[in-house]
Amino acid sequence: MPWHITTLFIVAVLNAVFSLILIRGSRTRVNNIFSVFVLSASAWSVGIGLFLGTGSLKVALYAADFYYVAAALIPILFLHFSLLFLREKDNPISIFTMTVLYVPIVTFIVAVVVDPHIILSSISLNLGMKDVILNPVPYSLYGFIFASYVVAAFLVLTRKLHNTRELDRRLQLNFIILGTVVPYILGMIFNLILPWLGNYRQIWLGPVFSLMMVASIGYAIAKHHLFNLKIIATEVAVVALWIFVLIRTILSDTLSDQLLNGGLLISLIVIGVLLIRSVIKEVKTRERVEQLANELGVANDRLTQLDRQKSEFLSIASHQLRSPLTAIKGYSSMMLEGSFGHLTDKLKEAVERVFLSSERLVIIIEDFLNVSRIEQGRMQYEFSTVDLDKLVQEAVAELTPGVVKAGLTIEYQKVGEGPFFTTADYGKVRQMVVNIIDNATKYTPKGGIIVTLEAENKVVRINIKDTGIGIPADVLPTLFEKFTRAKGAGLVNTQGTGLGLYVVKELMKAHKGRVWVESPGAGLGSTFHLEFVAQ
Ligand code: ADP
Repeated sequence: MPWHITTLFIVAVLNAVFSLILIRGSRTRVNNIFSVFVLSASAWSVGIGLFLGTGSLKVALYAADFYYVAAALIPILFLHFSLLFLREKDNPISIFTMTVLYVPIVTFIVAVVVDPHIILSSISLNLGMKDVILNPVPYSLYGFIFASYVVAAFLVLTRKLHNTRELDRRLQLNFIILGTVVPYILGMIFNLILPWLGNYRQIWLGPVFSLMMVASIGYAIAKHHLFNLKIIATEVAVVALWIFVLIRTILSDTLSDQLLNGGLLISLIVIGVLLIRSVIKEVKTRERVEQLANELGVANDRLTQLDRQKSEFLSIASHQLRSPLTAIKGYSSMMLEGSFGHLTDKLKEAVERVFLSSERLVIIIEDFLNVSRIEQGRMQYEFSTVDLDKLVQEAVAELTPGVVKAGLTIEYQKVGEGPFFTTADYGKVRQMVVNIIDNATKYTPKGGIIVTLEAENKVVRINIKDTGIGIPADVLPTLFEKFTRAKGAGLVNTQGTGLGLYVVKELMKAHKGRVWVESPGAGLGSTFHLEFVAQ
């Protein structure tokens, strides 16, 4: 078989494979029309191949009629595809447009069936090559209509390119326009104009250019799903390799060559199938990962938003609770002091409970407010030079009555002579120390608390050690997170919120210091450390 005819059949197979892959890929209208478009390019190659290859003039005539129909379909389907491609939604186009699109081709098919000589009035063999005489009027009309569809499609595409801002879409349109304009011009030169001028020898070139057209439109469609493009590229490459080796096998001169090429073909088929499968698998996994990442991103955004709303809610609710609580605390304290006259013992006991509960609530609300201030970035700090020795002494003195009342002992010791200066917000550091000593009191049923202060290597450290319930090892890593309470904590102290240590951790962060805890285990006491940069 002459090589140019072989080329035509290879082009036909490649286009047909491409069309099948597209049809399988996605069943949208655009894809369907595009795959019929590719199929007509394939039929065009087959028709020309048959025309050039056959020895029978009769077969050649029918083959020519066939490829003129196939060739006419190419610009029509291209226009149809362009109209569909530019729509935002996958809607069908109007009946009027469909009529304008398809009535001429139906008329042409009827004309060819009625008179097979309508385009080629005669074919003759000349030194093994075919020469033809064209029917000038129908052929010119055919050429004119063909060119009109091509021009219409390009007008539609360029107008859209002009009106589109979206970068992705512009890229796609550029690809389609640039990738098709050259093959169309070349195809029309070799398959419409040269034959009109009497040269019918180069018509095999047109279908070869169609491959370029198909590839660029295919690429533009696949751009939206770049991953699928990888599958398509692998499939096309593998199939092209198979066809190449198959042709080599058929054309081999000796039996040993044929066997060798046949063996090569079989191994290539096996390897190719495996390769395509693994590419599909990889692409699917990547698509799934991408989809999951997107879903995760959305969920994360939603959570962040919810977290913000929660902080706002906490802040508003706490502010609203603070004023009535101040009144409860203030009035119960005045009643206890006798501002409203003498109280009976029973009444005094009840009012005392009201006072203590309101005090506890004040602490809880203060924790809530601190959390929302921290999370909304509204916490204000006033840094100055702080003498930690003085601060700790004051805090211990303030808390001693409560500790003693709980049946515990408390001691304060300095390790060395200091100095124990740091740059800090006095009120906040005091709040942290009070919080931790208060915790030690709450979670220590018997024994005592020892507070020590030490300075070494540019840091000043406050250690608060108790003989309490200790902290199980599994809770230690998360103890400073929001709402974390160890399992046994509820038994000793039912009122906790699990926010105090979170606030301490955040305040220490703002002080560029560290807080951590050590505990040998449940029942063995714990030691909290607050470490500041020394001044
Ligand atoms: P709350 O005391 O309100 O529960 P915190 O954030 O202050 O919240 O403490 C969190 C948890 O850490 C407590 O519930 C408790 O389980 C544990 N914890 C804190 N201090 C001590 C301590 N000194 N001994 C044992 N456990 C403690």
